[in-house]
Amino acid sequence: MSADRVLFVTLDSCRYDTFANAAAPNIKALAPLHKAQSPSYFTYGSHSAMFVGFTPGIPGAAQPLLDPKFGKLFKIAGAGFAGKGTEGYALSGSNIIEGFRNLGYTTIGTAAMGWFDPATPTGVHLSRSFDHFHYAGAYYLRKQMEWVSRRLDRASGDTFTFVNVGETHVPYWFEGADWSPDDNPCLPFQDRDRAAECARRQRACLEFVDGLLAPLLERHRDGTVIVCGDHGDCWGEDGLWEHGIAHPMTTTVPLLIRYKGHPVARETPARQASPWRAAARRLLGGLGAGEACPVHARTASRWNG
Ligand SMILES: [Zn+2]
Repeated sequence: MSADRVLFVTLDSCRYDTFANAAAPNIKALAPLHKAQSPSYFTYGSHSAMFVGFTPGIPGAAQPLLDPKFGKLFKIAGAGFAGKGTEGYALSGSNIIEGFRNLGYTTIGTAAMGWFDPATPTGVHLSRSFDHFHYAGAYYLRKQMEWVSRRLDRASGDTFTFVNVGETHVPYWFEGADWSPDDNPCLPFQDRDRAAECARRQRACLEFVDGLLAPLLERHRDGTVIVCGDHGDCWGEDGLWEHGIAHPMTTTVPLLIRYKGHPVARETPARQASPWRAAARRLLGGLGAGEACPVHARTASRWNG
């Protein structure tokens, strides 16, 4: 049996509409695009949540992997809990990286944003569980890809790889861009409307990123891949700019999942209405309807909290 390869990519600050409008053929070939809700509106909060299994999801979808309330892609299981059958990977440990390590995976991580800098206490928190970790800084995806490729070449057996991409974060810049990284069109509290420039630049950044990610995505074609935004940005909506603020534009993100070589799509209403689905819903999430016995209710609450 060939090795399992898991890849987790966060496109930092990438808005859903940016992704939907971009020419990003390599990422889009993974799986259908979903409009999802992120677990937080800033980098540290969102990654801290995702690293314990709370990846972006579609509330109410009642479908494993796309709705983490129903079934998480990465589930941190409690002591003695064998899994309930709707999670992608049942893991044990203080976070999902440790969980994969405990399963024998080589864990490889690289990040662009300062929250991950291992020279800081927050960066230690987000990076220390990886076997190999490279903090790159904001505009160095090419070097990140070279580093990851070398690490994967050396790894034997199963691997878990995490990549945090910085080009899509303000000020929206990439190597070779025809504008200055010193000109940030998305300044908090600005009174100029530069929304169109924000959209143009973040989209160009994503299209650049898509090309650089292609070999890594190809390498994981038969494996499991999740690509998502960790949060979005406001571009003048309700007078707000950038992220770090609670707003639908900072918590709506693109999400694509490929699970063990298969694209994860929304299920049809007919399939969702099947008797098996109804039974699963009662068991996993049907609280408050009065049908779940107290033991199930307590267990489900612990699982899904
Ligand atoms: Zn971020």
